Amino acid sequence: MISAPRGTRDILPGESWKWSYIVQTASKTMKDFGFSEIHLPIFEHTELFSRGVGETTDIVEKEMYTFEDRGGRSITLRPEATAGVMRAAIENNLCAQGASAKLWNWGPMFRHERPQKGRYRQFYQIDAESLGISNAAADVEVIALSIEIFRRLGLKNLEVVINSVGCEKCRPVYRQKLIEYFEKHKSDLCETCLTRLDRNPLRILDCKQESCGRVADGAPDIFDSLCDECREHFAEVRAGLERLGFTYTLNKRLVRGLDYYTKTAYEILSGDLGAQNAVAGGGRYDNLASAIGGNKIPGVGFACGLDRIMLVMEEQGCDFGQTPKTDAYVVALDDKSRGAAQVLTYELRKNKISAACDIAGRSFKAQMKSAGSCEFVCIIGSEELAAGTVSIKHDGSQISMPMNEAASYILKSKN
Ligand code: ATP
Ligand code: MG
Repeated sequence: MISAPRGTRDILPGESWKWSYIVQTASKTMKDFGFSEIHLPIFEHTELFSRGVGETTDIVEKEMYTFEDRGGRSITLRPEATAGVMRAAIENNLCAQGASAKLWNWGPMFRHERPQKGRYRQFYQIDAESLGISNAAADVEVIALSIEIFRRLGLKNLEVVINSVGCEKCRPVYRQKLIEYFEKHKSDLCETCLTRLDRNPLRILDCKQESCGRVADGAPDIFDSLCDECREHFAEVRAGLERLGFTYTLNKRLVRGLDYYTKTAYEILSGDLGAQNAVAGGGRYDNLASAIGGNKIPGVGFACGLDRIMLVMEEQGCDFGQTPKTDAYVVALDDKSRGAAQVLTYELRKNKISAACDIAGRSFKAQMKSAGSCEFVCIIGSEELAAGTVSIKHDGSQISMPMNEAASYILKSKN
């Protein structure tokens, strides 16, 4: 027996319609906020991520699915969407001459992580990126968009956490302060954080180890190091969120795992997820375009984890809209009527009525059982066949009509 690789899973029919509901809800929300859908390759040149996401990040250091293709090129299955969206924007000149672009997409991402609840090796993200605008209003719009998706899905018990991680002017100063501070507390840091000390000291701030957490709590405050521009930008983001009536928490230890973030960083956490509690994460990335070799294009965006949204919605008993159902079932009373039943079923389907009939040669009784949950039960026997009619059971009564009137009757009387 060949099984699915570890950390992957099949989304079966019992669940897949719920996934569609989430994606459709997100899609409509994106449209209402003026975001257009973009489809991207799921593999890219490895440099896109090593340069974009950053060499010292967890993703690039240990989570990527990288392989050499038959042409000897290094290819990586995308671990996240932002770098690919920016690559596409640069390559297709979407932000030429100061133009802006608001783009969204959804699909599978790949990270070699230890599988557990809410953490998979192939997982799914819904992603939105607002490119070309450096104003705080763009950050506010993107954060509002993510919150609105969750509001429409009916998620409760969420917390919006924000921070500023500074920019290329002020972050080096803060980085230095952190190194000096952590050097003094080396003995309390975990193995991993010791290696982060010179390479990426900001990452120590969000280490989940208790002793590192205690040290990080006493670390210099990033707000004291922000330059005027970053300070002002952050104040505008906060004011904008407050104008829209959102509550949020400030967390100076929220640094996010990716190098490309500048200024705003944020996460949306769920109280119902346990250890993997982030349903969405995002922020501003004004240096990403130049890191991957383009002109300067500012950007801000987020990605939310579809798998985790599912878990929370199930946990909270959220509504997934209508369960998929078949409106009409066409029953053949005898073997001679089977052909006509299939013809009528196809006719109904052409009229966009969801319809079914038996194709396994099952008995009348078995067909009636399958028809049980359908609003309309159409019956064809030798009498109907001879007269070119069909008997339709609906709402407790049964009427006979010419076969070619069945579709319009169903469309007219459907609930
Ligand atoms: P985490 O801290 O949980 O590892 P992250 O910071 O690595 O998350 P991002 O890169 O910000 O995650 O991705 C955005 C969202 O994608 C996360 O908030 C989460 O909902 C989802 N996500 C990330 N990694 C996984 C995974 N391995 N399996 C399922 N969902 C994931
Ligand atoms: Mg991660």
